[in-house]
Amino acid sequence: MSDVKLPHPEHTGHLFVVSAPSGAGKSSLIKALLTRHSCEQKPLKVSVSHTTREPRPGENDGEHYHFVAHSAFETLIEQGAFFEYAKVFDQYYGTSRLAIENTLEQGVDVFLDIDWQGARQVKAQYPAAHLVFILPPSVAELEQRLIGRGQDSAEVIARRMRDAKAEMSHLDEFDYVLINDDFEQTLAAFYAIVLDKRQTLTYQTLHHAQLLDDLLKG
Ligand code: 5GP
Repeated sequence: MSDVKLPHPEHTGHLFVVSAPSGAGKSSLIKALLTRHSCEQKPLKVSVSHTTREPRPGENDGEHYHFVAHSAFETLIEQGAFFEYAKVFDQYYGTSRLAIENTLEQGVDVFLDIDWQGARQVKAQYPAAHLVFILPPSVAELEQRLIGRGQDSAEVIARRMRDAKAEMSHLDEFDYVLINDDFEQTLAAFYAIVLDKRQTLTYQTLHHAQLLDDLLKG
């Protein structure tokens, strides 16, 4: 991985990394957050990763992922194109460095929907990133959600439960923990984290310099 030339954190949008075991509701929460709370003055964006896995039905290239061949992904690694990348379930996944830098520079809050390996790499390179972990409300509920439509064998469910536990074992590397019991309450708590970052003295001083000047002068 090459050097990261991210701008100074307080001059830009905030970077949020969101990880969770499969079945915790991560994608739905990020989607709802963007749909309900992104606006022209305060835009929110989710980063579109590159992956070598096959598209699932309904997934579009460039929208859900940039789907690339194994060899193309490895060329991008050699070129230092990734901010972070990891192998998840035997497939490569990675976040393009340029896309993140450009978006943050425009003052947009960016969300990375990535696994714990990626979260760790992001925090190491960019400590100002906010790491959010989403948990299911109980083991039984997680199992129920993974059983889903009842199409998977007991063996597949057991494997998915093991994968979920492995992901959750990295909880202590995160800054925030959301327990997704009630979707609306979890979404409100998630948005509260985003709003909190916009009320710091440094942020307000940078974004409302004129107002503070008017209010405080004379
Ligand atoms: P899926 O194949 O179900 O879309 O994603 C599998 C896992 O890979 C999820 O935990 C997802 O968050 C993670 N993932 C997706 N994109 C990236 C990425 O760019 N980097 C890393 N490290 N993980 C990713």
